[in-house]
Parts: sequence; structure tokens; C-alpha cells
Amino acid sequence: MSESDAVRELMEADRWIERVSAQRNHLPELEELKNVEEELRSLLKSLHEAEDALSPVEHAYDDAAKEADRLRTRASDLSARLAASTANARELAAISGELDHVRALLAVSEDRELELLLALEPLQEVVARIKERAQPGVARRTSLQSSILELQQTLDDELVSLRAQRQEKALHVSSAVLSRYDAALVRAGTSGAALVDAGRCDGCRIALSPLDLDRWKSQPADSFMACPECGRLLLA
Ligand SMILES: [Zn+2]
Repeated sequence: MSESDAVRELMEADRWIERVSAQRNHLPELEELKNVEEELRSLLKSLHEAEDALSPVEHAYDDAAKEADRLRTRASDLSARLAASTANARELAAISGELDHVRALLAVSEDRELELLLALEPLQEVVARIKERAQPGVARRTSLQSSILELQQTLDDELVSLRAQRQEKALHVSSAVLSRYDAALVRAGTSGAALVDAGRCDGCRIALSPLDLDRWKSQPADSFMACPECGRLLLA
């Protein structure tokens, strides 16, 4: 195998690694996950707002219900005392007067309880609806996360094997050329060599000047002129 062929194989191995890495990092599932998470974050914000609106009404309703309960108990105690009482007429009138008062308070309290109950229902419904809307997103997020994990694991395994093959191919390139190749790879990324295609370097896509093109064409075999733009070793 000529040195040019060895460099070409190394370039192809590096380009292949680059493609698989790009695929790993730009999975369509990653983009979709980002969108799903954004939607869930916005639903969570709405949920917090709805819960903030609901919470004071819930507390007020609980307080009103407790107060109505207290008055109901008090009224039934007074009724029982009145029924069983052997007290004199004045005391009976006092108990009966208090009972009327407690019943009046109870009526107001029950109205309040009902009013708050009616206010509570639509607010609870908003909370429930937001939770319901979030459910498919939550399920989709879980399924995307597991697909991404699986796909990336597969691609990572592939990259391990591609990198091993790449190291194998590097052994066929002389150390002087390999160090030039690796330096160009570090500087330019993707690969340390590129093909000349219709007068252009296919690494950086810049056209060679007529002078550079002549220089490149007339260079001795396996001497590897570097692209004046990106520094990659130019191959035919
Ligand atoms: Zn170039």
C-alpha cells in the first residue's frame, strides 16, 4: 500500500468517526426531548399558578366548614338542653334565645361554606386539567429518554470499534507524515487530510489558487502538500 493510500484510509476512518459522533450528538430524539421538556416546564408553571389560586380558597373553605360544624354541634347541644330542661322560664328563654342566635349564625356560615365550595370547583378543575394535559408529555419524555440512552449506547459502542480501527490504520502511516496529519487534525478538526476535488480542498471547501494547484500537481509522490487554508494534507 502506498503512503497516499494509507493516509487516505486514515482520513476516511476519521471522517467516519466524525459522522457517527455528529449523529450521536444530534439525534432527532434529543431535539424532540428538548421540546417536550420545554412544554412540561411551561405546564408546571401554569400548574403552580393554578395551585396558588386554589390554595387560599381551599383554606377558607376548610375554615368555613369547621365553623359551620362547630355551630351545628352548639345548636344541637342547646336543643337537647332545652328539651331536657327542668329550669325556670327565664333560663329556658335564655337558652332559646341563644339557640336562635346560633341558628342564625349557622345559616350565614352554611351560605359561606356553599359559596366557597362553588368557587373551589372550577379552580380544582383547572388544576386537574393541567395535570391531565401534562400526562402524555411525561410519558413521552420517559420513552424518549430511554430511546436516547439506547441509541447513544449503540453509537458509543460503534465509536469504540471505529477508533480501534482508526488506530490500526494509523500504524500504516510513517511517523513523520502521521505527526503532520495529527497536527492538521487537531487544528482543523474532522480529519488531518482532504481530497482535492475540482480544484478545491474538500475539507475547507476553499479553491486552491492556480499556483498552489500547479505546485500540488507537480509535487513528488507521497510528499503531501498541505492545504494553504486549513492545513490538511491534500490527496488526489
Ligand atoms: Zn483546506
